[in-house]
Amino acid sequence: MEEEVKQKYVRSGKVIQKARKKAREIAEPGTEYREIADTVEDLIRNEGLEPAFPVNLSADEEAAHYSPGTGTERVIGEDEVLKIDIGAHCDGYIADTALTVNPSGKHQKMIETNREILEKALEFVKPGKTVGEFGTFVQNQIPDEYNVVRNLTGHYLGHYTQHAGVSIPNNRNASNHVFEKGDAIAIEPFLTKGSGKIKEGKEGNIYLGQGGNVRGRAERKLLKQVKGFEGLPFSPRWFDSFSGRDKMALKKLVQSGAVKSYPILREVDKGIVTQAEHTVLVGVDDGENIVTTRSD
Ligand code: MN
Ligand code: MN
Repeated sequence: MEEEVKQKYVRSGKVIQKARKKAREIAEPGTEYREIADTVEDLIRNEGLEPAFPVNLSADEEAAHYSPGTGTERVIGEDEVLKIDIGAHCDGYIADTALTVNPSGKHQKMIETNREILEKALEFVKPGKTVGEFGTFVQNQIPDEYNVVRNLTGHYLGHYTQHAGVSIPNNRNASNHVFEKGDAIAIEPFLTKGSGKIKEGKEGNIYLGQGGNVRGRAERKLLKQVKGFEGLPFSPRWFDSFSGRDKMALKKLVQSGAVKSYPILREVDKGIVTQAEHTVLVGVDDGENIVTTRSD
């Protein structure tokens, strides 16, 4: 890994550490989801970077891919188990991290267990180990009372690409893919009290430009703005203004396939889901890993 690239990964990680801290501070009962997402994304921009994707705020049995829309008034509940998944990039080099909060503390043990499993998983990753060995190791750490979510995985990070090809499952798998020095990866085990499977729900206000030719002035104008996100996911909250006409145009872009709309991912048994995630540069510090997004 080139030194310049490494420094950019480290820089985006440093900003994300601040973003995590801020998110934890303000995620209290009664705080609006929108306030959390806007505050965290603004912090990233004020540091001179850009969000790598809209802040994901997924509650209870929702595991991922919900972000508040322009009109969302939802607030955090006392007992809510809220996954806060945050990404930033420095010239396309991404830091991806997630934490889980639960104001009442009722599910604190599960959150702690998830965090400890992530720490062990981060230790396990070394040049020469395979993705298959990793999955077996992580699965063996899961206490009987929980299941690991099988169809949500860690992943490689690429330049302006959040999911760069190789998936890193947290359960037994046959992958012979070998971790190498200089790999940039996100490790993210999810625990649940359900059976450990995710299905797609309704749309979650997260979009991705796919390109293509579109008709209509409003649609073309919107698609041009979407190109500014460099192939990374975006939120309608990020536009200076987002009128009713823009909303219709976005709907048409989704229908035509020029823009992809991500569905919310929910646990099939409505089991509570927790998540913990950090970004790792494998073996780059005299053979040791750098966990770019970890400060605490
Ligand atoms: Mn993430
Ligand atoms: Mn990730």
